[in-house]
Amino acid sequence: MSIRAFISVCGVALAAAGVVLATAQQGAKPRPEDTEVWEPEPPVVTPGSTDAEPPSDAIVLFDGTNLDEWVNTNDKAPAGWTVADGVLTVEKKAGNIETKRTFRNYQLHLEWRIPTHITGEGQGRGNSGVFLASTGPGDAGYEIQVLDSFENRTYVNGMAGSIYKQHIPLANAMRRPGEWQTYDIVWTAPTWNADGSLRTPAYVTAFHNGVLIQNHVELKGETLYIGQPEYNRPYDRAPIKLQAHGDPSPPISFRNIWVRELPD
Ligand code: MG
Repeated sequence: MSIRAFISVCGVALAAAGVVLATAQQGAKPRPEDTEVWEPEPPVVTPGSTDAEPPSDAIVLFDGTNLDEWVNTNDKAPAGWTVADGVLTVEKKAGNIETKRTFRNYQLHLEWRIPTHITGEGQGRGNSGVFLASTGPGDAGYEIQVLDSFENRTYVNGMAGSIYKQHIPLANAMRRPGEWQTYDIVWTAPTWNADGSLRTPAYVTAFHNGVLIQNHVELKGETLYIGQPEYNRPYDRAPIKLQAHGDPSPPISFRNIWVRELPD
């Protein structure tokens, strides 16, 4: 082979390699499972009793009687979930609901219950969520997961008490379906520079049924189903949002929701 022919062959080979590489990169379409973590599974802890009447300075967001503090996330119409017998139940067709009030830093208490006769498995079993700041329509924002994690395996960064696809809970303190669960959450909102870049990230501390599950963890950005989290939606104050997940299992319920605003 002449030098010229050799160079030509090498060129074709390099070009071919380049095509293969480019194809591989283009072919790497992000998938949900890219960001799932399955191990190690947090230890199971059986919680003690929990009781949390609102303290005197709390803003009560749901006291069992009405949804005056809430709207549908997408159309801002009166919240379309169901209130009966002192309990708020997800109405999946209505979509997510969120508070009319907006917040920066706060302490939040809420209680939630997976139906006794829950069906489904994995992420399709009692999926809901609490968006600690709702930054837009749909699921935009920062979600701590609500799910039936009582003897229901899924990726651990998507189980109950996870900061969705970012932080695995320190323990699985889940009560069985039909029993009330409590979340007590401290939210430190992200702050932003004047140009919209991130100044300080968000932090979460959370207790599930009185058991510490997140200890001042730093968030990497908004929680996403697909792809890597990022801080790309600066906000000042934001509503708290509850998720109407589209999974086909029976809808879950909430009660006793209150919040205490904290200084900046
Ligand atoms: Mg969810």
